[in-house]
Amino acid sequence: MPELPEVETVLRGLEQRALGCRITGVEILNAGVITGQPAHLREHLIGRGIAALRRKGKALAVYLATNGATQGDCLLIRLGMTGQVVVIRRDAPLLPHTHVRMVLNDGPNEIRFRDSRRFGRLRYCTREDLEKVFGSLGPDALDVTEKEFRDALRRRGAIKGWLLNQRMLAGLGNIYADESLFEARIHPQTQADRVSERGARALLRAVRRVLRQAVALQGTSFRDYIDIEGRPGNFLPKLRVYQKTGKPCPRCKAPIRRITVCGRSSHFCPRCQRRTRRPRANTNSR
Ligand SMILES: [Zn+2]
Repeated sequence: MPELPEVETVLRGLEQRALGCRITGVEILNAGVITGQPAHLREHLIGRGIAALRRKGKALAVYLATNGATQGDCLLIRLGMTGQVVVIRRDAPLLPHTHVRMVLNDGPNEIRFRDSRRFGRLRYCTREDLEKVFGSLGPDALDVTEKEFRDALRRRGAIKGWLLNQRMLAGLGNIYADESLFEARIHPQTQADRVSERGARALLRAVRRVLRQAVALQGTSFRDYIDIEGRPGNFLPKLRVYQKTGKPCPRCKAPIRRITVCGRSSHFCPRCQRRTRRPRANTNSR
């Protein structure tokens, strides 16, 4: 499932291949992936330039321009579970689950949106719509400051669920949440507001390190994720606990365990990530 590093990889790919291009045609093969009226989306996209790209968490905004100037409106792309965005020749065979095609510069290439499970969405957003969408998300996991991170941690509930809650911190899904908790040696069921100051700093460092490394390796291809050129990501061999149930911990060799936390599978090392019992952070800050 695409998380921050995969969406960032798509963003960088679009910057290389589509930035500055004009959308000269839009074909919607499956209106089910469009939020709002498909005709409305076409009308706002055709003839517009691609002025800039911006990401918050897993949401990707493609800013649209008229005569080179952006009005702040955009095409918002959400990859959902299996969404793919590729830039490909228009005469390339149309693969199953291709839902939208956008011709670039009336030339040989087009952007295609594919999604086998159809949880991904394309939506035309005005500047105000986008502010609402981005405003509903917590700070981006790569941009969050230490203060924002620690303030947001003052909540009850398991840290694993907290990391997955996009209103708290935007960008992590199951893969990078498990990897970050392992890196920081925090048990997934630890209460968010009981993470020590030291633990919080370690977790933020771990989140940044894991995400940056994954971005540098173009993400993880667990199921369907591919980059703009159709290539898989290279982070898969770097995974240390995710989907490694029963395999030895890369640090201490204890077998990795899998439990369910907040309804999601969680992989962790029972020896490196012990569950600590300590008072809530706001009553004892040491
Ligand atoms: Zn271990």
